[in-house]
This record gives sequence, C-alpha cells and structure tokens, in this order.
Amino acid sequence: MSEAATQISPSKNLTIKEFNEDIRQGKIEGYTCENCGHKQIDINEFCSSCQSPKLRKLEFSSEGKVVTYTIQLVAPEQFINEVPYAWVIVELDEGPRITGWIPFISKSSELPVGQRVRFKKSYLPGIVFEKI
Ligand SMILES: [Zn+2]
Repeated sequence: MSEAATQISPSKNLTIKEFNEDIRQGKIEGYTCENCGHKQIDINEFCSSCQSPKLRKLEFSSEGKVVTYTIQLVAPEQFINEVPYAWVIVELDEGPRITGWIPFISKSSELPVGQRVRFKKSYLPGIVFEKI
C-alpha cells in the first residue's frame, strides 16, 4: 500500500516544527506580505498588518539589535549550564522582533539596549544570540 495516497498536501505556511528545524540549521525564517511588504515571523495564515493571505516565505538576516531583556540568574534545567543569561527581545534588521537568549550575561552593563547581536546556530534550546 502506498503512503502517498493518503498524504495530505503540505501547507505553504511554515509550521512551528519547520521553524524550529530551521533554527537548528541556523536559519530564521518568516514571511513577507506580497500585498503590503510587512515582514513577520509569527506563524500565521494572514499578514498581521493588512490581513492579506499572500505571504511568501523569507529567510531573515541573522543580525539585529537588543530591544529589551531580563537577566535570569536562576534557570530552568535545560539552561542550567548557561546561567546567568539574558532573555532578550531582538529586533532583526528587517524589522520583526524575536525572542531569544544570550548566555553568560550577569549585569546590565554587559548588555546595553541597542546592542548589536547575531543569531548563532546552536545545539542549545531556543534561539541563541551573541554580541557582535
Ligand atoms: Zn500585508
């Protein structure tokens, strides 16, 4: 029996699983709206700016700047070897914001708001950034 017969055609949109696999491959992928040009990372059927369904998959640059962050001195088990770390919101150069973290940040003087950062391919969980 062929498996292909029961296969459902894949959605053109990025799934959370695909997004996470891309992150493991060192790529941040999202969408650009073909109607208004808005760029987003959110896994969504529609443009969050104009509601158009015409979204095209796009690989974003891996660089941006820190918008805000909190320093975590106590970490859940999966981050235990990287404490202290900063839980950051990064604005990518294309505009969308993404949440990630930067290992070994212990005080705010080590990470000024606006600091340039780069997404780093990593075996660690989540989206890891490093200062540039
Ligand atoms: Zn749009």
